[in-house]
Amino acid sequence: MTAESLETRVLTANLDVADLHRIDVYESTGGYASARKAVLELSQEQVLSELESSGLRGRGGAGFSMGKKASFIPKGSMDKYLCCNADESEPGTFKDRLLMQRNPHLLVEGVIIGAIAAGANRAFIFIRGEYALQADILDAAVEEAYAKGYLGESVFGSGVQVELVVHRGEGAYICGEESALLDALEGKRGNPRLKPPFPANQGLYQGPTLINNVETLCNTPIIIEKGAEWYRRHGVGNSTGTKLVSVSGNVRRPGNYEIELGITAREIVYGLAGGPPEGHEIKCWFPGGSSAPVLLPEDLDRPYTFESMAEAGSMLGSGAIIVVDDSIPIVDVALRLAKFYRHESCGKCVPCREGTNWTVKMLERIDAGEATPMDIEIVASVQQNIIGNCLCVLGDSMAMPIGSMIAHFRPEFEAHIEAARERAEHDLLAAPVESAENLAASAHAGPGVG
Ligand code: SF4
Repeated sequence: MTAESLETRVLTANLDVADLHRIDVYESTGGYASARKAVLELSQEQVLSELESSGLRGRGGAGFSMGKKASFIPKGSMDKYLCCNADESEPGTFKDRLLMQRNPHLLVEGVIIGAIAAGANRAFIFIRGEYALQADILDAAVEEAYAKGYLGESVFGSGVQVELVVHRGEGAYICGEESALLDALEGKRGNPRLKPPFPANQGLYQGPTLINNVETLCNTPIIIEKGAEWYRRHGVGNSTGTKLVSVSGNVRRPGNYEIELGITAREIVYGLAGGPPEGHEIKCWFPGGSSAPVLLPEDLDRPYTFESMAEAGSMLGSGAIIVVDDSIPIVDVALRLAKFYRHESCGKCVPCREGTNWTVKMLERIDAGEATPMDIEIVASVQQNIIGNCLCVLGDSMAMPIGSMIAHFRPEFEAHIEAARERAEHDLLAAPVESAENLAASAHAGPGVG
């Protein structure tokens, strides 16, 4: 099979059209017809039912049914909110950036449809601060949509109001957690909230709020245009549609690839991304961003679906595959990961705040050859004590992959300690020994005063 034939371009079908970011060009490809249909021809229930029967699941990480989530928003005439999570901070994930940069109106159209489904009159796109270029592009697209009357007090002249604001975050991983995102939008420090209440009932400004990822919303114009039935024909079982997968790490052709859910992970990693560099083998891979427990090379033959990745003990997550080959020490991967999560922990709850810090310190001891095999046991038990005991998923996001690395590669952790210890001993023996006269002279000299 050729690399091209492994891709199924639906979301990315028009990405190569020149100036697609301009509203006239987007409309020339059929853009905004779905939003117009959702607003002028369909009822809120029909839009909801179409989204629900399509089987579309959240593409940001949780994989929850988008239509069902929208149906949780209570009815009534109060202000209701739609927040698009464009905080894409999960290491290895860069698919939403592509969509926003190259096809911003697809997202704006998706926001309109999502707002209709939820009955929301106010919408926000919360975009990470580092995505300045994409935020500028989105700002321009929103302005164009307002000028055409596709956003505002009377969308497409229907009398239905949808206001949309692009809000730039300040660059904290935790703001991708939905309740921290809401706090950040309200101008507070982005800390996760206690749940319940859930955002559907008390979200932004205490109002009913639907929160969806960029890629999730970008699927909605396609579902409204082609129908739920058509959409369900793509994918396998409860993993319907296509998925934009970011592939990075030790592969020859890193990048974003849109695939039909259900092709094997091997087809993605080898067929599309070219596999590891010549002379190297895959040691392990993250199937869904750095928060996902690592899988082994034999798991590559599994279908890339929500269910299959869960059966293998991991998750599809944000759809970011990170490949680690045999040239990379697994302790380096674990330490790098732990440092990231320690840095990003908001510090609100103890297992995460202390656990990420302890994990970094113990991994540093392992890396320096100062640990014993018993310390590996302790690192593993710290991960067990974090999982399920935190206020939000950040603690688990470190504990699950590091726990999986220890489970799969314990002999390598032990060998790493042994090799580092031998290196340290060798360096000590090779270091020049100061003579007693020199030591005595420097002790008498005292600090220099020039
Ligand atoms: Fe903050 Fe970590 Fe607790 Fe989440 S798990 S609330 S990031 S301390």
